[in-house]
Amino acid sequence: MHHSTAPETHHDPFVRVRGAREHNLRGVDVDIPRDALTVFTGVSGSGKSSLAFGTLYAEAQRRYFESVAPYARRLIHQIGAPKVDSVTGLPPAVSLEQRRSSPGSRSSVGTVTLLSNSLRMLYSRAGSYPPGAGRLDSDAFSPNTAAGACPSCHGLGSIHRTSEELLVPDQGLSIRQGAIAAWPGAWQGKNLRDILEVLGYDVDAPWRELPAKDREWILFTEEQPVVTVHPVRDADRIQRPYQGTYMSAHRHVMRTFSDSKSATLRARAERFLTDSPCPACEGRRLRPEALAVTFAGRTIAELAALPLTALDAVLAGAPPDGEAARVLVEDLRGRIGPVVELGLGYLSLDRTAPTLSAGELQRLRLATQLRSGLFGVVYVLDEPSAGLHPADTEALLGVLDRLKAAGNTVFVVEHHLDVVRHADWLVEVGPLAGEHGGRVLYSGPPRRLAGVAGSATARHLFAGREADPGRRPVRTASGSVRLTAVERHNLRGVDAAFPLGVFTAVTGVSGSGKSTLVGQVLAREVGERIADPGFPVRRLVEVDQKPIGRTPRSNLATYTGLFDVVRKLFTATPQARERGWKAGRFSFNVPGGRCETCQGEGFVSVELLFLPSTYAPCPECAGARYNTETLDVRYDGLNIAEVLGLTVESAAAFFAGVPAAARSLRALEDIGLGYLRLGQPATELSGGEAQRIKLATELQRQRRDHTLYVLDEPTTGLHPADVRVLLRQLHGLVEAGHSVVVVEHDMEVVAGADWVIDLGPGGGTDGGRIVAAGTPAEVAATGGSRTAHHLARALG
Ligand code: ADP
Ligand code: ADP
Ligand code: ZN
Ligand code: ZN
Repeated sequence: MHHSTAPETHHDPFVRVRGAREHNLRGVDVDIPRDALTVFTGVSGSGKSSLAFGTLYAEAQRRYFESVAPYARRLIHQIGAPKVDSVTGLPPAVSLEQRRSSPGSRSSVGTVTLLSNSLRMLYSRAGSYPPGAGRLDSDAFSPNTAAGACPSCHGLGSIHRTSEELLVPDQGLSIRQGAIAAWPGAWQGKNLRDILEVLGYDVDAPWRELPAKDREWILFTEEQPVVTVHPVRDADRIQRPYQGTYMSAHRHVMRTFSDSKSATLRARAERFLTDSPCPACEGRRLRPEALAVTFAGRTIAELAALPLTALDAVLAGAPPDGEAARVLVEDLRGRIGPVVELGLGYLSLDRTAPTLSAGELQRLRLATQLRSGLFGVVYVLDEPSAGLHPADTEALLGVLDRLKAAGNTVFVVEHHLDVVRHADWLVEVGPLAGEHGGRVLYSGPPRRLAGVAGSATARHLFAGREADPGRRPVRTASGSVRLTAVERHNLRGVDAAFPLGVFTAVTGVSGSGKSTLVGQVLAREVGERIADPGFPVRRLVEVDQKPIGRTPRSNLATYTGLFDVVRKLFTATPQARERGWKAGRFSFNVPGGRCETCQGEGFVSVELLFLPSTYAPCPECAGARYNTETLDVRYDGLNIAEVLGLTVESAAAFFAGVPAAARSLRALEDIGLGYLRLGQPATELSGGEAQRIKLATELQRQRRDHTLYVLDEPTTGLHPADVRVLLRQLHGLVEAGHSVVVVEHDMEVVAGADWVIDLGPGGGTDGGRIVAAGTPAEVAATGGSRTAHHLARALG
């Protein structure tokens, strides 16, 4: 692999890629204009991400690493640069992808958008201080700094407590019988008991009969008295007297929880702790000095808890008190604007990052970039329309245009047809997925895509209504699940009825409460009532886009159970039987058959000074994961590593005579995943792929019990052509007598539902109500619903 070293001329307005071979790309040559909005399209698995992220972004990042850390050049070489002959004209890149980025648990909307910094500055410079108080530095308003954090809870807002009920779950036991469950086991526990006995406490009376002041001391004292213990004869061994130090159960639990290096011990200690709001700061996380400062009559904690739209209104109404305040308020409002514009005005600054969806997080980052003042860079985005109601897509397009107008290049992997239409330039990868894709079918302005043979996007972009499958009449419900007086997040006393035996779509703008209602309340309620024999639903299955495993040790074959079948076939070969090998020999997760250099991972970790550690193929097995003796065993001509390298499609042909394997392979093919390799690690699968693998695993089981399937935006990451395939499967489940509930923005999907529940009218406190419920046609005719006219358009 060599990289062009020719000086790049900036007169050439194109990024030029030559010979890209990352993943399934087949020596792709493509020219993409700089300073324009380019959308990469194609069916799922065609190679869009391999081109936009795997090649373009990875190459820009590699060049950056080389420029900041030239010493790392050899290591970078070992990891491997993207497989491409040359890329010219590439500006430095900023990636705003959603898949692989999860911020820490201490980050929040405020830290991700940098709005917290500005707000702290406002309080530091322009807040109202109590008489006589000195001005505070802006750090003093941050719970994440020593200067600002409440000393009682270290800025967490809550503290861990123990209680007698937790420490002594069974008060009928004596100390000798183990009343104090929180004590360590074995010798250390006996030691503490012996010390108490020396100190004169009754260790043989039931716990509840001990005097209250003794119980208090035993559990909670901070004293650590040292006494001489004369152990009694234990199993005929004479033990010497020793000096023992007492430690209360409370102290032991807190020490273990905060200091222990062992995760198991920490987890055990956590069982004896509860979380409660910090009494010192009342959960506001700051020192009292900081909480005494106000702006517009409110503390910084109060402003950080407001939805951004309300925060903006407070700032707009604040009396202009001096030049510093005016400038800071203007800056804050300027930063809040794009966030609200992208449909996220319902979020508050103190909302923690782990509670946000991937789409919300990406849009927050996008809004933040608008104010960064960066120009001359390329932004690479992964489906920014995910989670966005059609009513908000206009705003997204406006934001992308502004990034471009500021002098940047914008690359977007996207399926939403409104975004595709809006592009200056379109790169279609295809024609199909995996080894049937990987070519650039078209690179040019959207309008000229029309004549391109084999383009899946052209069919959907230009065909309009004709391409729709005929609408079937809506189905009638066989019953319903009722939720009454639901109170959660922004839902206030909502009553909802979910019909059974039909396909239901839940709609509404971002933040209206869809995920709360479906993913939390409905799922929990059904989960609880399922054991009741009178309840119509027998099983609940949530099919989400979470990975099917967090390590490369799980893959398609292990998840679906196919690998068990495959390993049985290998143990039945004459070679394996001769050697007496069982199924474990063919697992890469246990010693025996696997390669020990990489312990069956196929990869080894490479540590780079100052840079995130990364992976390189195992030098011993070159990624095969097994040792050579294991690889000598062949079933029908292939060894186990070669079988894991088969695509689902080729495996279906290879295992055609093995019913147990053929069934699950067919289910995977039917759902459009024929292009995946059996051994493809869970960590390399997209959310959409993970979701369809779960669905296929479900479909191959063919259950009769009435099952409720719950899916949150199942079309994320799917091309309209893939959506058709998915819908056929979901409607198939309904035909088989089950119920399906989806949270969905794609109006084609909603138009094909039997029942629609529309939440809103807005997000956050402006939402949380059911605006309309009925058949798609009924909801499309409802006034006051922001979904209605988009749905009407889709109904045609
Ligand atoms: P798209 O973005 O169009 O959905 P991708 O570029 O993600 O497609 O995938 C193209 C092909 O490359 C697929 O066959 C996919 O399974 C494969 N692939 C994706 N990521 C990896 C990876 N990290 N390693 C190996 N193959 C991969
Ligand atoms: P949707 O799914 O329609 O986008 P959500 O159900 O995610 O909406 O959110 C509805 C409201 O509940 C929003 O105001 C959101 O900020 C709030 N919310 C959602 N999840 C949480 C959470 N984990 N903690 C606090 N508030 C939340
Ligand atoms: Zn506190
Ligand atoms: Zn190895």
